[in-house]
Formats: sequence, structure tokens, C-alpha cells
Amino acid sequence: MNISMHAYYKDAVKLYKSRSQIARVVTENWCRDNMYCPFCNNTSVKPFENNKKVYDFFCDNCGQQYQLKSKFSNIGKSIPDGEYHTMIRAINENRTPNLLLLSYLSDFIAVKNLVLLPKNLLFPNNIIKRKQLSVNARRAGWTGCNIDISGICDDGKVKIIEKGIVIDFADVRAKVHNIERLFSSDFKTGSWLNDILLIVTSQKEYFDLDKMYSYSDFLKLRHPENNNIRAKIRQQLQFLRDEGYVEFLDRGNYRRLR
Ligand SMILES: [Zn+2]
Repeated sequence: MNISMHAYYKDAVKLYKSRSQIARVVTENWCRDNMYCPFCNNTSVKPFENNKKVYDFFCDNCGQQYQLKSKFSNIGKSIPDGEYHTMIRAINENRTPNLLLLSYLSDFIAVKNLVLLPKNLLFPNNIIKRKQLSVNARRAGWTGCNIDISGICDDGKVKIIEKGIVIDFADVRAKVHNIERLFSSDFKTGSWLNDILLIVTSQKEYFDLDKMYSYSDFLKLRHPENNNIRAKIRQQLQFLRDEGYVEFLDRGNYRRLR
């Protein structure tokens, strides 16, 4: 994997004027020539035909599909996506692609960050509805969405390039493998695990059950269908204990291990 984008940029400016078109072509061509499939041992991913809008790339070995989203400088806490209801439906029907989030340095010198967000980590409560377009807009009534990256636990985001450093393939594979194991069930279960991991990993080394219960309102907002939030918190803590994230000390006291 070569992080330089300069050659792609030189080619693109000969063909395109608009900044967004240049960004799309440079990042897509870079990905086509440099990206591997983190789900298997395939050394490349293939671009779809241009009209296949939702999925940009696929792996011809394991069938995983990828959508590339790029930004200048930093990936940030939130990324814009398509129509809100379409996105929610796609999640419910398990049709979402894996997301590749790429940020680049100025003048497309090189890739700065590249993060894989596996499709299992796209939960409806991290899809934030944007304001509906006004009646005067070209797409009146259209409601877009943002993907709330900050609402996804760090263990669910796989760094492939970090600040210009290419992460070792074996480390990327191990992390993807762990995510496939932890988040293999339906998104409701996965979304609970994600939220409890978000909370637990933000705690100091030692914390207690009362502290966990203090997030009940936050969790109720994210899981309005659940009427026994406290029991769910305890159940998820037990799961994290079995997975080696948390050590149970004396009654109601915990130690964070990761
Ligand atoms: Zn693959």
C-alpha cells in the first residue's frame, strides 16, 4: 500500500475542474490500486460499474462490498450520507455496505487516515436525520442523514492508515476478525454492545454499577423499546467480563482491562 496520491491528482486535474469531482476520482483511483480486502486475504478490491451508486468496490473473493467516503484533512465525528429512510431500511434489511472513510492531505499529496467501518457497526441510532429540504429546494421533501461516527465504539473502527502510517495487515485482520465475532448477531444486540462499550471505555480504570446506571437516560433514548435498562446494563457487563474487557471486583465494582 502506497499512501501517495500525487500521480492520481496530476491525472485528474487534466480532466476535471470541479473540486468535488477531482476528489472523487483521485480517492477512487487510489483505492482501486491500493486497497486490499480486510475481510479475507485478497490483495485488491474491484470497482463497480459507475452506475452502481451505493457500493463503490467489492471483493471478488469473499463478496464484501465497500462504499468510499472521503474528506479533506480529518474524518471527523460525523459524515453525510444519503436519504435517511433509505438508509434505515437498508440497515434493517442487512443491505448496507462496509464504509471506507478516507481523509487526505492538502493538494492530494497523500492519504492521511483510512478507517474501515464494518457494516455490522452501522446501527439505526447512529443515523441522524437531517432537516428536510424546503419546498423551494430542487429535491423538496428529501431528508438526508449523517452517520454519527462518535457514536461508534473504538473497537468497531478499524484503522488501516493512521496519520500517514500504514497499519500492519495482520493487526487489521485481527481487529476485523474480532468485530465479526463480537457483532455477528442482529443489530439490536450489536447496538447494545456498542453503546455499553462506548460507556465502559470512557471510564477511569475503576468504576461501579451506580456510575453505569447513571447512563440510563442516554441508553433509554437510544433504545426506547427496552423497559429494563438496568438489567440490560448488567447483562452486557457480564458479556464484557467474559470477553476480557472488564474484571468484576467485589459487589458492583469493576475494573476496566482495555
Ligand atoms: Zn474479501
